[in-house]
Amino acid sequence: MRQIVALCVALTVAGGLAAPAWGWHPVGHRIIAAMAYDQLPKKTRARVDEVIRKHPDYGKFTEGVRGDAKHMARWAFIHAAAWADDIKGDERFWDDTRRDAKATRALQPFPEMKRHTNWHYVNLYFSPDGSPLPKTPEPSAKTQLPKMIAGLTGELGWYHLVWLLHVEGDIHQPMHCVSRLTKHIVDRAGKPTSDLGGNLTVVDGYTNLHAVWDDLLGVTRDEAYIDWMAARLRKAHRKPARLSLEPDVWIDEGFALARDKAYAGMAAEQGTREKPFRRTVGYEEESLRVAQAQAAKAAYRLAGVLTEKLR
Ligand SMILES: [Zn+2]
Repeated sequence: MRQIVALCVALTVAGGLAAPAWGWHPVGHRIIAAMAYDQLPKKTRARVDEVIRKHPDYGKFTEGVRGDAKHMARWAFIHAAAWADDIKGDERFWDDTRRDAKATRALQPFPEMKRHTNWHYVNLYFSPDGSPLPKTPEPSAKTQLPKMIAGLTGELGWYHLVWLLHVEGDIHQPMHCVSRLTKHIVDRAGKPTSDLGGNLTVVDGYTNLHAVWDDLLGVTRDEAYIDWMAARLRKAHRKPARLSLEPDVWIDEGFALARDKAYAGMAAEQGTREKPFRRTVGYEEESLRVAQAQAAKAAYRLAGVLTEKLR
């Protein structure tokens, strides 16, 4: 599976197309959503339940879920957190970042059928060897998150809520806020290219740096694991005294963590197939700590935004 991902990435780069975006494993998104949902005040929770029920894919969010109405509503929210990734393989939707893509048929009540694969991340560039930095492409998570938040109370609140649920989680995965350029990562024409959020940075014993970070919250899909991890994170990380509800702040933090932690100890020439990055035990421990702290923050902030907007 990972090899397929790596291959797709290589082909994408060779074709000069838009950057791919993966994200926390769906389990990571679900843990953040579960922790956020459990903190919502009763009134907000009821409004959130009501908004999400209008989503045309609500039936999918509750597929296989058994229990009373409360349980169903909670798991609908949790499963909805991965919808934006799920539609990447859904034929009803089309990849608007591909030059040769054909638009699919409009389906009511979706406002559009685009997959918006470039809404999941923002490429803030840096280089350890002074390689020239391109301009950050748009649209991105940075341009879209404020729109999702603003849209929560509108007629398409269900659309914006489900996008926000996902992308807010994504950008707390530090590799969604960064792309690294070195002289050593080049496209087929030999031109330096960004590592696409770590997708092209090769890691020994894994595929790439982006995938390493995607999986840090775990990959066990069952409900019990998600609840256990959400409870564990909530216990280990207190709600921050000052809760930032600004996407730009979240993104800047993610970028700094990526640069200083995810690429920590990586020499400029490392991360290629010839010289893959090797994680130390210290790196593994620190990356796990950062990923868990970020997931907890994502949950507190998501609950904070929803509480403010859907009173
Ligand atoms: Zn994503």
